[in-house]
Amino acid sequence: MTVFNNIEILNNESLAKYTSIGIGGNADYFIKIRSKPDLYAAIEWAEKNSLPITVIGRGSKLLISDKGIRGVVLQLLGMDSMVIEDRFVYAEAGASLIRLANLTVSQGLRGLEWAIGIPASVGGAVTMNAGAYDGSISDCIIEVEVFNGTGFERLSNEQCQFDYRQSVFMQRPELIITSAKMGLVPDSRERLQEKVNLYKQKRAASQPMGRTCGSTFKKIGDVSPGEVLDKAGLKGYTIGGAMVSPAHANFIINKGNATCQDVLMLIEYMQETIFEKIGKMPELEIRVLGEF
Ligand SMILES: Cc1cc2nc3c(=O)[nH]c(=O)nc-3n(C[C@H](O)[C@H](O)[C@H](O)COP(=O)(O)OP(=O)(O)OC[C@H]3O[C@@H](n4cnc5c(N)ncnc54)[C@H](O)[C@@H]3O)c2cc1C
Repeated sequence: MTVFNNIEILNNESLAKYTSIGIGGNADYFIKIRSKPDLYAAIEWAEKNSLPITVIGRGSKLLISDKGIRGVVLQLLGMDSMVIEDRFVYAEAGASLIRLANLTVSQGLRGLEWAIGIPASVGGAVTMNAGAYDGSISDCIIEVEVFNGTGFERLSNEQCQFDYRQSVFMQRPELIITSAKMGLVPDSRERLQEKVNLYKQKRAASQPMGRTCGSTFKKIGDVSPGEVLDKAGLKGYTIGGAMVSPAHANFIINKGNATCQDVLMLIEYMQETIFEKIGKMPELEIRVLGEF
């Protein structure tokens, strides 16, 4: 471990433990960021050593290469403050989306109930434009603060170019999201809690157990990739340690010893199956990172 300006830089850190699917080789360097000064220090150190930077959140959408990620990986989970002022919410990038949703519901603010059950950080949720049921994070984002390599900048909702599970941050990984301002709507706590309970029940009934990175493919228009794969008999289909979930065919489960290569081969097979059945290629929702 190296220490530079109060930040601890871990060498050859295994990334599998930072992802919900439990897969991934090592990062050359890994830094847990707790504050903006930490972020400045990490960027200064990376620049001094001419190393590329990759930012991860809670790793719930990530499939990381078996060879890992070259350069420096930053995780901002220590920057996790959440402040509510009137109907506005200010959350740092590392804040848990589930905690934020619970907090806003308890304060009688509507707009994030759909997020209960999504194991995301705010930074990851903004990047992926996470959503479920009747909402997505883009519905309530007012502005997003980013570090753009030289300083901090605020992007309006429009500048974030949100679309279905998509944002400008996916095309511009050099932008590091540090916080987001959201606008919510006052509503009855009881009514919001009822909605949350309903979503929890729905999720418990449909979401597979096990190590996964959520939906593998985006919806294809109105077509659900999970239904196509289910009809094609792929539930339970396994390559190496990677299996199509027997509960939901759009989820891949790590049975314990899956490699990134197993998952990629399974993804290819699922993609080909969907193309064969409906003549359209599904788009990957999972984020694949690292050296190949
Ligand atoms: C059980 C389960 C259920 C899920 N259900 C849903 C669901 O209902 N709806 C849904 O939309 N998703 C769902 N997901 C997927 C996932 O939770 C979301 O995509 C989430 O938004 C990812 O957030 P994260 O913090 O884990 O980001 P990560 O997976 O760590 O990263 C995702 C992307 O964001 C980037 N990123 C993360 N933080 C920053 C930052 N601060 N600055 C710049 N870039 C950043 C990363 O580089 C990466 O490209 C589910 C996942 C699981 C495992």
